[in-house]
Amino acid sequence: GELGQEQEGLIIAHYGQQLDVEALEGEERGTVFRCFVRANIDNLVTGDKVIWRPGKNDAGVIVARCERRNLLQRPDNFGALKPVAANIDHIILVIAPEPEPHDNLIDRYLVASETTDIPAVILLNKTDLITDTNRDAIEQLLHRYESLGYEVVRTSAAEAGDQPSPEVTRLVKDQTSVFVGQSGVGKSSIIQTLLPDESLRVGAVSESTGKGIHTTTTAKLFHLPLGGDLIDSPGIREFGLWHMTPQEIEYGFREIRELIGTCKFRNCRHMGDPGCALEAAAADGRISPERLRSFHRILADMAEQQSRGLTID
Ligand code: GDP
Ligand code: ZN
Repeated sequence: GELGQEQEGLIIAHYGQQLDVEALEGEERGTVFRCFVRANIDNLVTGDKVIWRPGKNDAGVIVARCERRNLLQRPDNFGALKPVAANIDHIILVIAPEPEPHDNLIDRYLVASETTDIPAVILLNKTDLITDTNRDAIEQLLHRYESLGYEVVRTSAAEAGDQPSPEVTRLVKDQTSVFVGQSGVGKSSIIQTLLPDESLRVGAVSESTGKGIHTTTTAKLFHLPLGGDLIDSPGIREFGLWHMTPQEIEYGFREIRELIGTCKFRNCRHMGDPGCALEAAAADGRISPERLRSFHRILADMAEQQSRGLTID
């Protein structure tokens, strides 16, 4: 069909061969158009800015992708990374006193944040569940990440009621956010305060599909009433195991990245051998022993996953 002028748009959803593009300029600004993609543009994802041409009577056409600031990927059912969302300001990693934080999982998310160059903020939810029994462990955990330079924010979705809490408001306002974290920490509850209109929310579709099911629902971009955007999908919220190379893991632990060049041990795998510079750094308190253990654990998991993959093949 006949096509209109080239203009800028924002991808807000993805449906197989078609995408929803929000017009960013002109009289139609803010309106969403279903579009096809020119064959020579691959891997467009939610959050991408594009150049597109509206269709006169039918679907528009995306003719180019604008440069991306960053790209979030998540694993498919086979652990291979697939691009899912672009141009994200921060990953909000939600943890809670209950279910108890799995610090290895926190570190995995942080590796993803470092390697994609999308800043991570740690959001402790359910502060109302902090007691004399769990306080020290939680504060110690948070302190470990704060001293690495990660921003830590505390909130309680329960105490905030149906309004976004001031802490969450400050965090998401005028930013493009993605919430991640293990099941049960309160992501849906927080998102519900941000997007009160039920029909808009992703989680409503498949929150109860149960464990271990990797849903293929693609990410959607939502404009938050308080300002800013949220990119969300059940798959983004809880990405499971995925493959990381030793180089990515080394890079993804920011304090280890700084130190690893000082290891003079020949062919060191940095897996706990006595001569390793990382061991010395943990011993004299320059790095956290818990983080080093977590680093070893992720390296070992990846090596095991790799060898299992090879035997299956
Ligand atoms: P998700 O799996 O991360 O999306 O977690 P949900 O939002 O479904 O929350 C899991 C459970 O924690 C639900 O029963 C919520 O009502 C509860 N919850 C969420 N936020 C809070 C909070 O701040 N304090 C308390 N005590 N419970 C909360
Ligand atoms: Zn070493």
